[in-house]
Amino acid sequence: MIPPDDLPPLREVIRRHGLSAKRSLGQNFLLDLNLTGRIARAAGPLDGVTVIEIGPGPGGLTRALIAEGAAKVIAVERDQRALSALAEIAQRHPGRLTVLEGDALAFDAAPYLGDGPARIVANLPYNIATALLVSWLTTEPWPPWYDRLVLMFQREVAERIVAPPGGKSYGRLSVLAGWRTQAKILFDIKPQAFVPPPKVTSSLVELVPRARPLPCERGLLERVTAAAFGQRRKMLRQSLKTLGTDPLPLLAAAGIEPTARAEDIAIEGFVALARALEAVRMKA
Ligand code: SAM
Repeated sequence: MIPPDDLPPLREVIRRHGLSAKRSLGQNFLLDLNLTGRIARAAGPLDGVTVIEIGPGPGGLTRALIAEGAAKVIAVERDQRALSALAEIAQRHPGRLTVLEGDALAFDAAPYLGDGPARIVANLPYNIATALLVSWLTTEPWPPWYDRLVLMFQREVAERIVAPPGGKSYGRLSVLAGWRTQAKILFDIKPQAFVPPPKVTSSLVELVPRARPLPCERGLLERVTAAAFGQRRKMLRQSLKTLGTDPLPLLAAAGIEPTARAEDIAIEGFVALARALEAVRMKA
């Protein structure tokens, strides 16, 4: 494909800037500009949007986000070797790309946000993908500073994010994501699309924040799901003992059978348990 800008093809960028992929940085690059364009379109429309991109690497997705009309891309990259390649993109699009060198896990987007909507779009480094997602899902206040997350994960992680109750994929991440957002898998990408190819299929996931998640204290919801899924094969009357209070009144208040197991309980049930736990603590 002819690049949508007049910058060189990505293979040439990689060669010129010595960007051989490092496993320690979770580097699996997307060099097909058709594919990066498809991801950017799935995250669109982007007019007026400030996009936060984590791990731009050689800049394939970055270029697509700019080509699709993002007002501004703020790109956070840990690999110093990528900075000169990214500087060429910034130069080609004055004022539309800010490249920040650093660790995305410690990144605070607040100083970079404009008046319009902000969105996080990324082909995430898989070794920190879940940690980054949890940090965005637990941000306060809620609704958050971003209007959407469009993120690439390993298929197995994507399935955990969107899983309904009743199966093996359903767990703490599904409850947190489903409580605060509407999450869905947009499409899959085969390993061969990446350089180097990862071992597994990847999935692009969209998470749209709910304006009003069911009310409960986030910290207590996380404690309840940690207890319940920490021993997911056990009945809740047993697994919830780690909360340090008698589980039976909690389960009764939440209208849940004491013999039920974590994976049978819908998000509403965990919210009810968190609220029951809050009531017990208020009395104490
Ligand atoms: N966006 C590029 C693409 O689609 O081809 C690269 C994606 S690659 C899966 C992940 C990128 O995240 C790499 O460029 C890697 O250097 C970067 N990265 C890894 N750990 C990081 C961290 N802690 N903070 C910021 N970037 C990181």
